[in-house]
Amino acid sequence: MITPADEILLRRAIAVAARAVTLGDAPYGSLLAGPDGAVLVEAHNTVRRDDDITAHPELKLARWAARELDPGTAARTTMYTSCQPCGMCAGGIVRSGLGRVVYALATEQLVELNPSSGAWPTVPQDGPALFDEARVPIETYYRPTQAGG
Ligand SMILES: [Zn+2]
Repeated sequence: MITPADEILLRRAIAVAARAVTLGDAPYGSLLAGPDGAVLVEAHNTVRRDDDITAHPELKLARWAARELDPGTAARTTMYTSCQPCGMCAGGIVRSGLGRVVYALATEQLVELNPSSGAWPTVPQDGPALFDEARVPIETYYRPTQAGG
């Protein structure tokens, strides 16, 4: 459920997106609010500026959270973002331990406004293969130690 307090922070994320446009960047903005609701950090899309396909604000903030927040704080931190996170960012958010995401535009709404936003084909994948060879580094890394680890 989105509360009036959420809407205030969501409007701030939309303002970050609007500011990105004035800087020549794509119109996507996000922020993290800690357990007390205070804004911890903001980011906007810098894909073109950085020539980096991963420079979505949600992924930048997920990486920041994983680096800077202890797991308990991350779990009580909320991401507010102008658009629903894409698949790449959603994966990063899960791994960051952030506890909640609040977004303004759903992906379907974004695609309605800009059809090219949804033009992502799936990539063909072949596998699994070479199990007996590929398992060696995994088992070597994760094998419990003799000392009872
Ligand atoms: Zn993304």
